[in-house]
Amino acid sequence: MKVEVDRDLCEANAVCVGIAPGVFELDDDDELRIVRAEVPEGQVELVSQAIDACPRNALFKSR
Ligand code: SF4
Repeated sequence: MKVEVDRDLCEANAVCVGIAPGVFELDDDDELRIVRAEVPEGQVELVSQAIDACPRNALFKSR
């Protein structure tokens, strides 16, 4: 599974970072960075929760 962010929608509120900090982080410019676009097996459930929790619907699975 891969995860991507629509930067036009993301407002960098870090909700996803709080849920799956191993996959998402905010960089020094307060931009969301996806640390691991290819989501490790053990993180799939957390990333799915983050996708559902994003208040901007900015996250999506690309496959
Ligand atoms: S939860 Fe959504 S809006 Fe917030 S930082 Fe993550 S992708 Fe961006």
